Amino acid sequence: MDTSKLKTSTGFRYENAFENAVEKFPTLARISSAATFGIPGLALTKVDEGLCECMTPQGICVAGPYVLITAYCNINKYREELEKHATKGGNPSKLEAARNHKQHKSVIYVVDKESLEHIATVALPDCTHGGGISYDGTFVWVAKDNERKMSAVLFSELERVIHYGFGTVRYLSTVNVKCQASFTITYGDRMWVGNTFSRTTGTMVGFRVKNVLGIPRLVRDGEIEMPVLAQGAMLADIGDKTYLAISVSGGRVNPSTVYRYEVDMSKVEKGKVLKREDCRDLGTLQLPPMMEEITIDPETRAVYTQFESASSPYADVEGNPCKSIVDRVCVSTLEDWFPEV
Ligand SMILES: [Zn+2]
Repeated sequence: MDTSKLKTSTGFRYENAFENAVEKFPTLARISSAATFGIPGLALTKVDEGLCECMTPQGICVAGPYVLITAYCNINKYREELEKHATKGGNPSKLEAARNHKQHKSVIYVVDKESLEHIATVALPDCTHGGGISYDGTFVWVAKDNERKMSAVLFSELERVIHYGFGTVRYLSTVNVKCQASFTITYGDRMWVGNTFSRTTGTMVGFRVKNVLGIPRLVRDGEIEMPVLAQGAMLADIGDKTYLAISVSGGRVNPSTVYRYEVDMSKVEKGKVLKREDCRDLGTLQLPPMMEEITIDPETRAVYTQFESASSPYADVEGNPCKSIVDRVCVSTLEDWFPEV
């Protein structure tokens, strides 16, 4: 089979499943009120001249005219799921392919913010889990989870690769942030890094990004408490108040929970942790399982929400696929997240 013409897949992978998810979770309709677009590459991603059918999306952010989505080759999980069902028939051809599948580099899918069309798939230099991505105006930051590191890609270099259509970007710098680096966002003049755990409450650590002769340095400044298993967060203003939404996911069966607070940012100080009990609690929202990052475009104020449930290791398996699959990025206004304020 000639695979040279195969391209990164686009469009909706599981249309019916999404409609079922909307029926089950009315909030999903509200947070996709402005638009939706299929997460690229779920069925097939072209990377490094290879083809991957188990890329699993993680982070999302807006950088200039682009929506950027990180994903990693989740072949270990996919193979494990296929092996589990091999004795009951399973899917021998998929299993055979999975056994021969070498781990691909992680990628950034680039989507045009206006047309919502996929315009490039950019490879990262490594196979990082890439749990989050954020943009500070100069650098695109990739959160590297259990490596406890943040890697910076120069936006102008990323843009050159985007114009070319494909290729690999370098990390200009990789910083040991001494925290879990599970997700990342920007708000005001800080970059925030999720420092969250599966069994205990975590935090989100604030950093000032200092550009020292073109190389970013990170200076810790402030910390906000996070619930167990936080996968993403959004900080944004409505009027003169600041609001925080935190996405918490607990596997492929349980719904995701979004915790919402009004936060007094003047209480965020160096060397202190702002507790959630010191924020005004606005209650929770229920969304389908496996929610990942939430991000707001500082220019248009559109909010983008991402799920990982439509990736092959969680959706395209015989035994225990995710029950409420979301195959698309959901776009809404900030007010859709905080209708009561
Ligand atoms: Zn792969």
